Amino acid sequence: MKLLFVLLLLIPLHVCALEATLHNLSSLSQAGQQKITLWINQSIEKTQNTLGPLKQTQLPIYLKPRYVAFEPVPWAKVKRTNPDGLELHIDRYASLNAFTRDWTLYHELSHLYLPLLPYTGFWLSEGFASYMQNVIMRDNQVITQAEFVQRLNAGFERARLQTKTKQQPLNKLSADMWRQRAQQRVYWSGAAYFVEVDLLLRQQNKTVAQVIASYQLCCRPARSTAKQFISSLDKLSKSNVFSLLYNKYNKRTDFPTITKEQLNLL
Ligand SMILES: [Zn+2]
Repeated sequence: MKLLFVLLLLIPLHVCALEATLHNLSSLSQAGQQKITLWINQSIEKTQNTLGPLKQTQLPIYLKPRYVAFEPVPWAKVKRTNPDGLELHIDRYASLNAFTRDWTLYHELSHLYLPLLPYTGFWLSEGFASYMQNVIMRDNQVITQAEFVQRLNAGFERARLQTKTKQQPLNKLSADMWRQRAQQRVYWSGAAYFVEVDLLLRQQNKTVAQVIASYQLCCRPARSTAKQFISSLDKLSKSNVFSLLYNKYNKRTDFPTITKEQLNLL
């Protein structure tokens, strides 16, 4: 009986070398357990298709099922433990299709490819995850190229609007983001940074996803300063693209111009 209980609580998933352990799965119905297991399994696979394998071999996922929710995943966060894990608040009644089309899990899984950066560097972490959630969904045919362009452009528009009232240098605003509710500018300025990096890298037949895939396997520490992180990416890409644009973005007070035509090149 006790063994059965433990088995129900901890159902491991084997995806490549990564073993995800779903905590609290047994609080769902049998069908719910199958749906959530399949969704998480498939999302890890899609993320790894784009960003390569995660270095960590264990991924604890803490499920918080809700009875009432307005979206499939109303809240989620990375838990920087050893190994890193995720906390997912989920609508227990959402369909597999609704979960698959929700961006949150792709966003949180993307975070795991980067080290924990200081608050002033949150624009890099959130920007990377906000850009990558869309790249992963597009690469894996969850959304079309047109939707990919539309979603990024919509994020940039929201950030442009917020930049009118939140004009601090990006690194300072990142450190005070929660108090000032400046998520739109911080997240999407960071996404714009990675879009610009990707556009330049592509001229050298490289991509952000490829560089991060190598970084994950060779050199990703648990924590890093923004400068160390950027300098590792420069080395791996054999370019100065990451630092060049970092210096442009870190203290910027405006929002960049990025056109839909540029986004369509990605
Ligand atoms: Zn995030």
